[in-house]
This record gives sequence, structure tokens and C-alpha cells, in this order.
Amino acid sequence: MESLFCLKNEDIVRILALDKPFQAKIIHQNLVKGVFDFSQMTSLPKALRERLSEKQGSALSGKIIRKETADSAVKLAVEFPDGAIIECVRLSDGEGRYTACLSSQVGCAMGCAFCKTGTMGLVRNLTAGEIVEQFALLSSLGERISHIVFMGMGEALQNFTAAMDAIKELHREDGFGISYRKMTISTCGLVPGIKKLTELDIPVRLAVSLVSSDDETRSRIMRINRAYPLKELKSALISFQRHQDRRLTLEYCMLGGINTSHDSAASLAEFCKGLDVLVNLIPWNPVPELGFDAPEEGEIRMFENDLKKLRINYTIRRSKGQGISGACGQLATESKARG
Ligand code: SF4
Repeated sequence: MESLFCLKNEDIVRILALDKPFQAKIIHQNLVKGVFDFSQMTSLPKALRERLSEKQGSALSGKIIRKETADSAVKLAVEFPDGAIIECVRLSDGEGRYTACLSSQVGCAMGCAFCKTGTMGLVRNLTAGEIVEQFALLSSLGERISHIVFMGMGEALQNFTAAMDAIKELHREDGFGISYRKMTISTCGLVPGIKKLTELDIPVRLAVSLVSSDDETRSRIMRINRAYPLKELKSALISFQRHQDRRLTLEYCMLGGINTSHDSAASLAEFCKGLDVLVNLIPWNPVPELGFDAPEEGEIRMFENDLKKLRINYTIRRSKGQGISGACGQLATESKARG
């Protein structure tokens, strides 16, 4: 059965052969509350509960096939009826704030060389409902999740319509009610997607995986840069920022010996000129088969010193979830589905 999230009430009525339209609303309310089994939806008539429960038990299309916990992060592997498997993660900052990290695609077509998901290629896009189901499943783990980042598997801006429909559903007042400003879309620099997002005028935050501000290095590591080089990317970001008036995040995955030199810091400072940005330094999480080195401590400290001298706003993220491969660029699954 397809996901019931993001569907119109009349579609839910049709799919489940309901007698009364308001029953669709009751089912949606139950899903938002984390009641997924039809048999537990006590606000539905008993006969209907029994019929739906006999037909398919759960009202979700995805089921959790694996759960791992480490470093205050919980990672779920979720399988959909066609055999597609994705991963999503609940991250905690240790001070009571929980963030859902969601996938937007099964695999990813972008092929960034430092990213494990990129090695899968694109298997298929997720539907809006399948994206929202990840949030519902992570919420059902028991803590209130206030923030969402699209930093799991996939390039969300390449699955634009579904990602935007999911964002609207997650924002719905009679649903999960997450503020747009607490949602962050991450992109590897898909310029047409950034332009569409700018036009749409939904006040979500944007994070760009920059990795290098030198075209030659970036094109070598991130194929997207061959199609949309840094100059085009920067111009799209300037125009996004004019519309949104919000600070952007530049994710800077630090790769040992590749993007941590004094020159790298100087070109990063050059790229930041004219933008209001926070650079998020992410020392690369080792993935043995990808052939990069994690930066050494001395290298990280030197780069940080350079950024301080250059007066660049930055933070450094020691990825939560590293122990369960739930950090950025480390989600990859063996899906039975093939695109
Ligand atoms: S870093 Fe993001 S865009 Fe690049 S391959 Fe990985 S998932 Fe895709």
C-alpha cells in the first residue's frame, strides 16, 4: 500500500474503501499521534478497524527493519513495499533538542566522491508520503522532534516536488506543525533547484555542501561542479539570500590533504564575501572503500586558525552518529528495488 501521508482525504477514502470522508481525517490524526496499527485506532468504528487491520495491519507503507543506537543518535533502516530501503536518523544535541535527518531518495545520482550514498547511484525518488513516514517513525521513538534536516540519502532538490510536498505536510498545523524555519534542505549545489526554491518563497533554511571553493578541486570531488561551477553557485546563493534574508550554512567536509591548506582557507574566504554564512566544518568520517583520509588533528587546528584570522564565522561538527554510520554522507543500503 502506498503511504497515506500527503494524500487528499478523498484519495484515502478511495484507497481504504472508507464509508465516510471524516474517517480519513481520523486516520491522519492517528498517524500524526504515532498510532500506526489500524487495530489501535479506537476512534474508528470496531468493524472498520477489524476490516482494515485484517487487510494490512499497519497504516504505514514502510516498516522498520533495523534500529541502531550510538552517540545519542538512533538510526532506522526502513523498507518500503517494493524492497527499497532507506535510512533516517534521530540526532540529539544532548540538551533536549532532537533533529530528524531524513532521506529524500533511495541512493543518489550526484556521485560526490567522498559520500557513501553516492556509490549506490540513484535507485528511485521517494514519494512525499515516504519522506513524511520517516519523520513519523522517528517521532514514535518517544521524544518530541523539533528540527528537520534533509541530509540523509539523496539530493532533495533533485526530487523537488516530493520534497516540497513533504515539507508542507510536516508544517501543517493539524499535522506535525514543524516551523519552516526549523527545516533545513541540504544540497550539493544543484543551481536550478536553488533557483526554484528561491521562487517558491518557503522560508526553509538552506545548507550547501561546498567542500572546496576551488573549481578544479571541487569538480574533481563533486561532479555537480562541472555543470554548475562556483561562480554560478554563488550567484544563485546571493539571490536566495536576498529573498530569504537568512544566514546560509556552508557544509565543509574536511578531507585530509585535499581542502585544508592555507590556500583552501583563503579561497573559502573569497567565496564567503558578499554572503551571510556560517561555515560548518565536518572532519570527514572514514569510509574505507572511498580512498580519502580523515584530516589529522593538527591539520584541523591549522585550518581553524586560518578561518579565525580571515574572520569567517564557523563551527566545527564532530558528527553525532559517527559510530553508526549515520553522519552526513555515510548512509547507504542494499535495496532490493532498482530504478
Ligand atoms: S553528498 Fe549528498 S548529493 Fe552528494 S552523493 Fe552524497 S547524498 Fe548525493
